[in-house]
Amino acid sequence: MKVAIIGVGSVGSAVATAIKNTGLINEIVLFDRDGVRARAAAEDLGHASAFDRDVKISAVSNYRGLKGSDIVVISAGANQKPGQSRPELMQANANVINDIISHLMPNINPQKVILIVVTNPLDSLVMLTQKLSGISPERVIGTGTMLDSARLRTILAHQFGISKQSVDAYVLGEHGDTSIINWSSATIGGIALNDFCKQVKIPLSQATKNTILHRVHGAAAEIIKGRGATWDGIAAAVADLVRCIAHDERRILTVSIVSRGVALSLPRIVGGAGVVATLNPKMTASESSDLHKSIQAISKTFKPFNKIG
Ligand code: NAD
Repeated sequence: MKVAIIGVGSVGSAVATAIKNTGLINEIVLFDRDGVRARAAAEDLGHASAFDRDVKISAVSNYRGLKGSDIVVISAGANQKPGQSRPELMQANANVINDIISHLMPNINPQKVILIVVTNPLDSLVMLTQKLSGISPERVIGTGTMLDSARLRTILAHQFGISKQSVDAYVLGEHGDTSIINWSSATIGGIALNDFCKQVKIPLSQATKNTILHRVHGAAAEIIKGRGATWDGIAAAVADLVRCIAHDERRILTVSIVSRGVALSLPRIVGGAGVVATLNPKMTASESSDLHKSIQAISKTFKPFNKIG
C-alpha cells in the first residue's frame, strides 16, 4: 500500500514516522511546497527505517510522484497564530487546499483513493476538500475528534485509575471549541458510566464534567504553550486511521465526513472503503442541543466558501 503525505512540517513528519511504525505500509511518499524540507524528512526517516522495517520512503518534487497512492494525508497549511481569527485561518488554509486539490486530482484515482484531512479548521476543510475534489464523501475523511476522544479517554482513565483501553467515551461535533462530550453513551468496561461511578464509589459531578470538557478543549493550547505545536497525538490518530483502512478493520472512530451538507464527527464505522456507516449515539436533550450549536459553528466557518466548486 502506498501512502502520500502532503505537508511535511511538524505534523506531517510525525505522521510519516507513525505510519512507518505501523509496519503495514510498504511505501511512503512525501510532498511539501518546501522541497528541501520534504527531502530532508525522507532522508531522516529512511535512516530510521534501517533500524526496523524496510519501508520505501521518498520525497517527490511534483504531484506526478503521488500517482498510485491508495491514501493521501493532507497535513499542509498553517497553525492558528495568536490573535488570528478562525475565518482568517480558514481563508489561509482554504487557499492551501485549493492549490493541493487542483494539482492532486489529475494524479490520483478518485474512485480508489482515500483522502485524510488533518489541516485546521478541520471540519470546514473536509467540506472544502470534498467539494473541490468531487470524491464521494465517505472517502474524504477528517481525523475529526479522534484526538479529542483520546484526550477524554486519557483524563477519565486517570480519574478512575484504570486503563485507557477500557474507556469507551466520545467527543463529537466540531474538532474545536464547540465539541461536546457524549456523556450519556459513555461506558467503562461495558458498564454505563453512571453505574460504573456508583460501583467504584467515585462520583462524577456536573462541575467535574464541565472541568473535563474544559480540559479537552484546552489540551492543544496547553501543549502549544509548552512545545510550540502539537504533533505526536495527531500523528498517532492518523496512523490508527490508516491501520483501520489498510486492514479493513471496521472499527468505530469519531471521524469527520460530509453528511447532510456539513462535516462533523460522529461515531462512524471505518473500513477499507472509508466510512461505511454512521451511528446515532444516545443523547440527552442538552447534548443534542449542544451538538446542534457545534454544527452551526462549523457551517458558519464554511459559509463564505459555499459557492466555491
Ligand atoms: P507546519 O508549519 O510545521 O507545517 C506545515 C507544512 O505545510 C510546511 O512544511 C509547509 O511548507 C507546508 N505547506 C504549506 N502550504 C503548502 C502547499 N500549498 N502545498 C504543500 N505544502 C504546503 O505546521 P504543522 O504544525 O505541521 O500543522 C499543519 C496543520 O495541521 C495545521 O493546520 C494545524 O493546525 C493542523 N493540526 C491539526 C490537528 C488535528 O487534530 N486535526 C492537530 C495538530 C495540527
